Amino acid sequence: MKKATLTIFAGPMFSGKTTKLIYLTKILKKLGQKVVVAKPSIDTRYTKAPKLASHDAKTIAAVFIDMNKPEDLLDIIKNDGFNHVILDELNFFHKTKTVAVIKKLLKMGVGVTGSGLAYDYRRKPFGPTLKLLKMADFPIWQHAICQKCGAPAEHTERVSGTKDVVVVAGMDMYIASCRKCHKIYKGK
Ligand code: ADP
Ligand code: MG
Ligand code: ZN
Repeated sequence: MKKATLTIFAGPMFSGKTTKLIYLTKILKKLGQKVVVAKPSIDTRYTKAPKLASHDAKTIAAVFIDMNKPEDLLDIIKNDGFNHVILDELNFFHKTKTVAVIKKLLKMGVGVTGSGLAYDYRRKPFGPTLKLLKMADFPIWQHAICQKCGAPAEHTERVSGTKDVVVVAGMDMYIASCRKCHKIYKGK
């Protein structure tokens, strides 16, 4: 059996991670691959229907996976004969379980392409993203544009709301900022 590969896109919000996954899904499908697109059920931004949605409103159909039960993916693969899994918002998935499931998928010959935030708004590693980036055959850093100075941005800055680590929101609560400009939100 051909070795399946792991590709991981990591970076801050607005760095084009979801856009990249939508683009790759379309090409993989065009080339005859059987692709399933999944995201954690916590993320219902933009739409209640299961879809990947980029910040500039591109969408693609997806399935919701319980963030604490990534093993559900294994059943989907077995039942429907998929050979490639696309996973968005890796940062919200359970760390050790998700790493184990991805290892299993690769062993089964299923390719995996995922994306996630590397760091949360406090600049702490977020979920399994960095671990998966280290394991990846193709580890890819994405960057956004710093909204304060225009430099490449590697961080997500919270600018309003609570101090909870997990708050799903868009431009109303977050901006992209570079290492020099990034400030850790202290609450309002
Ligand atoms: P991600 O999934 O990484 O959050 P998306 O793929 O959903 O990113 O969105 C990328 C889009 O966000 C860009 O094409 C651009 O239109 C928009 N955008 C908004 N703010 C920024 C920014 N600060 N830097 C780069 N792109 C931005
Ligand atoms: Mg995204
Ligand atoms: Zn900056």
